[in-house]
Amino acid sequence: MMWTLTPVRVGECDVRDYITFAGGDQSVRRFVLYVWILRGPGGPIIVDTGPSDPEGFSRSTAEYIPGGVRQAPGERTPVALRAHGIEPAEVPSVIITHLHPDHYDFLPIFETARVFISGQGFEEGRPALPPEVAAYLEESGRLRLVGDEEVVPGVSILHLGVHSPCSQAVVVDTDAGRAALMGDVAYLYDNLREDRPIGGVDAAVWHRAIARARSAADHLVPGHDPLVLHEFGG
Ligand SMILES: [Zn+2]
Repeated sequence: MMWTLTPVRVGECDVRDYITFAGGDQSVRRFVLYVWILRGPGGPIIVDTGPSDPEGFSRSTAEYIPGGVRQAPGERTPVALRAHGIEPAEVPSVIITHLHPDHYDFLPIFETARVFISGQGFEEGRPALPPEVAAYLEESGRLRLVGDEEVVPGVSILHLGVHSPCSQAVVVDTDAGRAALMGDVAYLYDNLREDRPIGGVDAAVWHRAIARARSAADHLVPGHDPLVLHEFGG
């Protein structure tokens, strides 16, 4: 089954290089925050949900995101998705690449969705979830803890476990080949092009994760590169 991928911009920020690259310095680079729409049979599927509290997120990340997250009113996830013809309450499936707030915050607006999160690392991440997200995930039939498996025809999960223990790539069959949405295992194309690990990880583990993703997909798509919008025409 073939799917189309649409990145939806839900904010931007400037991140210090020591986060983006192992051995990086204090200089900053532009990150864009994305929610993805996957359109195909049985879809749409939403990958990641965007930050609902950019001010709170910015306070907790001020050391390495100077100036914080900038989010225009039209970039709030429900507004941005409706502009693409998606009503959050009717979305059947949501996949979370990893349990960090800029990726899961808006989950409760997906009132009827099944939510796919990595079974590896979920227990470690659960205590940090805000009460409304934890309660949402506890609703009957909501949460699907997944491993390396196809969740719907043409969309598969690949557990990577780097950056966060529950980090997983979403591997999608498209007309242009198989694309792997990497979450924050790779922030920018420079991480991939130059084989430069992100900050704060074991380099050997990171290289192994990237190699696994490369063997599973034709294109690796980083989590926060501004060029993604141009490449996919979001
Ligand atoms: Zn992120």
